[in-house]
Amino acid sequence: MKNLSVRTRVFLWLSLFLAISDALFVWINYRAEQTRFQNHLEQRSQYVHDLFAVELGNTALRMQQTATFIASMPEVQQAFLRGRKAAEAEGGGAGGARAAQARDNLLQLIRAPWQTLRDHYDTRQLHFQFGPNATSFLRVHATDRFGDDLEGVRHTIFDALKEQSPKEGFECGRIICGIRGVTPVFRSSDNKSAANFIGVLEAGTSFRTLLELLEQPSQAKFAVLLSMSHLGETYFPERLAALKRENPAIDGNIVEATLHPEVRELLAIAQIGELVKDSGTIWLKVGERHMAFTAFPLRDYLGGRDAGRAPVGTVLAWMDVEQDIHHLQRDLAFNIAYAVAAFVIIEILLFMALRRATFSLEKMISNQTAELREMAAHDELTGLYNRHYLDEFLHKEYAIAARHDRMFSVVIMDLDHFKDINDVYGHLLGDRVLFDTARMVKGRLRASDLAFRFGGEEFLLVLPDTGIDEAVKICEELRQHMERESIGGLPAGKVTASFGVTQMAKSWEPLDVLLGRADDAMYQAKSNGRNRVESATTVE
Ligand code: GH3
Ligand code: MG
Ligand code: MG
Repeated sequence: MKNLSVRTRVFLWLSLFLAISDALFVWINYRAEQTRFQNHLEQRSQYVHDLFAVELGNTALRMQQTATFIASMPEVQQAFLRGRKAAEAEGGGAGGARAAQARDNLLQLIRAPWQTLRDHYDTRQLHFQFGPNATSFLRVHATDRFGDDLEGVRHTIFDALKEQSPKEGFECGRIICGIRGVTPVFRSSDNKSAANFIGVLEAGTSFRTLLELLEQPSQAKFAVLLSMSHLGETYFPERLAALKRENPAIDGNIVEATLHPEVRELLAIAQIGELVKDSGTIWLKVGERHMAFTAFPLRDYLGGRDAGRAPVGTVLAWMDVEQDIHHLQRDLAFNIAYAVAAFVIIEILLFMALRRATFSLEKMISNQTAELREMAAHDELTGLYNRHYLDEFLHKEYAIAARHDRMFSVVIMDLDHFKDINDVYGHLLGDRVLFDTARMVKGRLRASDLAFRFGGEEFLLVLPDTGIDEAVKICEELRQHMERESIGGLPAGKVTASFGVTQMAKSWEPLDVLLGRADDAMYQAKSNGRNRVESATTVE
């Protein structure tokens, strides 16, 4: 990291930030999709639940209609009344021979319609009861079991007897659990007074038809589970024992009804077992397919009246959601693809932008550096190169000249009596004289020559590839020109200069020796009367 450029580091940090926010974007989107899917499943589950409840109500009502239809037959009413009276006269319960005869008579009357009801309308039970203890008179579906009291077990029957009005709902009994409709039986269907009340008739069915009806519209599969503890409260003990043998319980529940025997395998899955306990909606992969499961409590007739009563079982529904999951995964894949594409595009743009920014920054810096360098190399007042640059330049020029065996001349030029000009005309004008002199010198030199401000009113000229004689000539012309011109607004001839010229020795000599020689020549010019050019040649 230490060896990376600032630009690369900025790029990497921004890329990291971008990658993290991109991933975050995908994750948030995916979570939102999942929540949406969960909501969708819950809505679907609610629909399945409602459909189940409506169909349960319809089935119970259908049973009620069936019972009412049978109970409206006068011969049925008469046989039931005879039987009841006989049983009461013969000591209650099952009664004696006369009661048995009436029971048999009633059975003969019912047999034909019962057959039809069983075969075509999935009616599973038809059961006559009477009296304050809800005594069973005839089970058409189990003719050998009668005379037992159903009070405390069969609340639909008990309530119908007590209130002499129809009752319906799901309820477990001694032999079977079912969806029941109980109707009062009166001696005459026209006169429903208490005096005419004989007892009640119940018709019942299993969940099978209901489940068959539900599967198509709900697109779900169902299983009705009943809790063993509830069955223990209602079933005849031997019936319970038989049930345990033929339909072993799973987690305390038996599968009361389903069209799909594989539910036993599903119930063995831990999450589904939990769901059955807690109710709700989940989705998971079973085998190769994604399935949604919803579980809701099953309430019986009494539970419908008393919300505080524990449910008697659970309804489990499951549906294939492979298609929905497929869509969810496709959306996720799209999201990732979009995010990756966006990342790549932004990365490219970022890279280009950063490169452009650094380029223009580098250019700006190099321009400014060059500008600063220029400023550092120049004298502020005259615009000529300054002393600082002179050292740098001369060293270089000197080395080149020595290597290529070339010569060059240097000139030290000092204004005459400059102090007087300052004294007489003021410092400002003195500055202007320096400025004008510099401009004039520069204007008259050749392109390859260079002029430096060497000191206060001293200038140094470097004349490459120029021998001393030519250098003297150039200085002489310059001197005469100065003499003729007005400088700094002063009369011509007021500003003059003394020139000391020398040439680089053929042999190697130190730079300060060369400059010293030029200086000496300049002083020679001063002492010879000023406004002169003197030269000093080297001793070969
Ligand atoms: P000489 O002919 O012997 O060279 O006499 P001179 O007066 O020119 O020499 P001297 O060295 O005695 O004086 C140089 C003067 O130059 C002194 C100083 O005030 C003046 N001077 C140096 N730098 C500047 C400057 O930047 N501006 C102005 N106006 N005067 C300067
Ligand atoms: Mg001087
Ligand atoms: Mg001077």
